[in-house]
Amino acid sequence: MRRGLSVLVVSFVVVLAEFSAARAQAAGSGDKLNVVASFSILRDWVANVGGDRVEVSALVGVGGDAHVFAPTPRDARTVGAAKLIVVNGLGFEGWMDRLVRAAATQAPVIVASAGVVPQPPPYPPPLAGEGRAGGRLGNPAAGSDPHAWHSVRNAEIYVSNIRDGLIGADPQGRATYETNAAAYIQELARLDADIRRIVATIPPTQRKIFTTHDAFGYFAADYGMAFVAAQGFSTETEASARDIARIIRMIREQNIPALFLENAVDPRLVRRIAAETGARIGGTLFSDSLTALPGPAATYVDMMRHNIREIADALR
Ligand code: ZN
Repeated sequence: MRRGLSVLVVSFVVVLAEFSAARAQAAGSGDKLNVVASFSILRDWVANVGGDRVEVSALVGVGGDAHVFAPTPRDARTVGAAKLIVVNGLGFEGWMDRLVRAAATQAPVIVASAGVVPQPPPYPPPLAGEGRAGGRLGNPAAGSDPHAWHSVRNAEIYVSNIRDGLIGADPQGRATYETNAAAYIQELARLDADIRRIVATIPPTQRKIFTTHDAFGYFAADYGMAFVAAQGFSTETEASARDIARIIRMIREQNIPALFLENAVDPRLVRRIAAETGARIGGTLFSDSLTALPGPAATYVDMMRHNIREIADALR
């Protein structure tokens, strides 16, 4: 009788162990929720909100350019193994729908920018005599601006969407996700206040800079700065010789004091324009990708702090 009972207990323990092993396998590595983000900034937010409960990777890694990303069969397997997929939306990841289809996954896809007010073109400064935004030179047919993460207020929307997506995929983690998201949103509020304080130290007439591609429209709108770009919202279309001639004229006419390179974009165009206009190269801004650790922009908050420091140093 006693012996029968212990056999029963042992089999129960074995069954229980097998059950958790199967569950762990299904969840990815360990017991964590396997999340795939389209690019590194979303990965950072998922990691902040998900904490220890999630394992998150980015399809477009640090230094990569999501505009021109070409997914591989390996990416399809990564997406296929995910329990939750997080994308920017606003037309940023033109390759994503096909990739999700190729992965034949049923995992939910969260559009992290949902609820953001899309930045409508044109934004200042208008190109002299053209009646267009300077930022839309290279790609006038482009749609809305996908780079909504450069507004820290929008970042709050992104983080809230990610929190809700994680709760949907892993309801048991609700308390963790809510606590982590609330703490992170407080950090974003401090970041926003710091950026405003630094912008206030730049003379208003100096608050204009030139970048390679049109990634800073949301930043410009939030903080009262003017960004002019050589390329459109995407890096796909190159600026033509005629575009470049217009850019050079505009930089001279509007006395744009500083040009900036971007981490994921070819620097040659900006260097050439700097040589022809005599405008200074202010440094490198991080627009569409974070850096690896210990780089200057390994997190979203670090990226934003780096960018405003570089801008202020160049314009003051
Ligand atoms: Zn971009």
